[in-house]
Amino acid sequence: MNYYQPTTIIYHNGEFVKAQDAKMDLYSQSLHYGYSVFEGIRSYKTTNGSTAIFKAVEHFERLKISAESINLPYSFNTQELIDATYEVLKQNNLGDAYIRPVVYAPANMSFARNTESYVFIEAWEMAPFLGDQLLRIMTSSFQRPNPKAFKIHAKAAGHYVNSILASQEAKDKGFDEAFLLDMNDHAAEGPGANVFFEKGGVLHTPQAGHILAGITRATVLELCAQLNIEVKEGVFSINDIKQADAAFFCGTAAEVIGWQSLDEYVFPKAWNETNSYKVQQAYKQLVVKSLSA
Ligand code: PMP
Repeated sequence: MNYYQPTTIIYHNGEFVKAQDAKMDLYSQSLHYGYSVFEGIRSYKTTNGSTAIFKAVEHFERLKISAESINLPYSFNTQELIDATYEVLKQNNLGDAYIRPVVYAPANMSFARNTESYVFIEAWEMAPFLGDQLLRIMTSSFQRPNPKAFKIHAKAAGHYVNSILASQEAKDKGFDEAFLLDMNDHAAEGPGANVFFEKGGVLHTPQAGHILAGITRATVLELCAQLNIEVKEGVFSINDIKQADAAFFCGTAAEVIGWQSLDEYVFPKAWNETNSYKVQQAYKQLVVKSLSA
């Protein structure tokens, strides 16, 4: 995957610079210890032809919460970062894109706090990939991190070693993606997405506490309220999911994507006859709705 070309522009500490010329310190505490925070955001070409960043405020506010919760100094302003992101999209002529802001630490080989931190925003083309390509999911041998060992509501880079291990394991075994349990063996989430499962038309999703309760998950909850689909947040086992009619992942990158199977269990209901499918369609429409409409 080519994330950038010689002409690609990123935002780096207040300036718009070429991606290939941007530098970071190899003595950064972020590189050595995974001590940085990031966001995964999407922009869409909307129905009126403009480009809109979906849930921009929510993502940049979470970036701030993530940074502060792991003691990274955060001196950035949400509106300024949103404006900078639109400028990055414009300078790179991007519409449907994936946007990756990162807040990182200076050179510091100790574990001590820093007095400043830095930011960059990258973006690359990423078409919406909502589709009916259903996923074959494997229950991971890795658990999600213990909330008492990490600030799991923070999108901190180091947490993603767990995601990488789980995802690689699933792909090595011929599956599309992993699904992880929490430290108590309750259903948790995917390496980069939240889960919903459907039983008798009612959607179920793990409650906050052992998951990164995503912005897409919140959007799905809102859509269910609008569509009069009942949702239960709670504590569920893997067997609860293996008795479901349907299930899906949701996340900024994944959007809403149905599951074909979990381990040996094949979801019995035709995807396009489920309430989950209705949610997928509603999400698809929502992301391209122009902000001014
Ligand atoms: N869980 C994890 C572990 C994630 O990395 C993500 C992606 N940010 C999500 C859930 C979904 O979050 P969102 O809907 O905010 O993208």
